[in-house]
Amino acid sequence: MNSNPAKRTVLVIEDDLSISNFICSVLQTNGYTPLIAEDGKQAKLMLTSHCPDLILLDLGLPDIDGVDIIKWVREWTNVPIIVVSARGREADKVEALELGADDYLTKPFGISELIARIKTALRHADRASNLDNSGNEVVTVGDLKIDIGKRRVTLGEDKEVRFTAIEYKIVSLLAKHVGKVLTYDFIIKEIWGPYASSDNQILRVNMANIRRKLEENPAEPKYIVTELGVGYRMLEE
Ligand code: CA
Repeated sequence: MNSNPAKRTVLVIEDDLSISNFICSVLQTNGYTPLIAEDGKQAKLMLTSHCPDLILLDLGLPDIDGVDIIKWVREWTNVPIIVVSARGREADKVEALELGADDYLTKPFGISELIARIKTALRHADRASNLDNSGNEVVTVGDLKIDIGKRRVTLGEDKEVRFTAIEYKIVSLLAKHVGKVLTYDFIIKEIWGPYASSDNQILRVNMANIRRKLEENPAEPKYIVTELGVGYRMLEE
């Protein structure tokens, strides 16, 4: 996992800091990048600004019912959600699963159980998002190779390109639609969700960073071109 070009981010939505700190240290030890939101309001902000690969959701939040977060998230993304709930609240778990949560953990839970659930949920999500369902989809454009199954991007002779989580999402989104122009709006909604600002600035900043890492001459890109006023396209061979 540590050799991943883009470490998986996990958003921990939990108001009990002793629990979230514990979870975060476990996540870090296991090669994930943790983010913490202490209430529903903060969770929504972090969901639209970062784009976590997985959500660990405590149902008992101070401001918003956890199930409302699930409804809100499922309006626009299939990011895996693992619900964390207190023992004896089976009805909550069922409701959460019916609303689209992927799994649940009952407090108190062990480290190995937590990591196993996360791995399983991520594997299911990867399988669902890979176009050919094999988990081995590889997109090649000249010297550029994007291995979507392995989340690995290489240039030339196996030289690995390291992206942030968001940069990687943009690159893999373009790779999945290689040859096709993707509008700014489409990319922003896919990456940051429909509640994100439609301002292109954050996308442009990320694209500049991606090009610096990918292109020999970022002013004359070979791999990802700008369709002026429309969006970006990853060129086909
Ligand atoms: Ca709580």
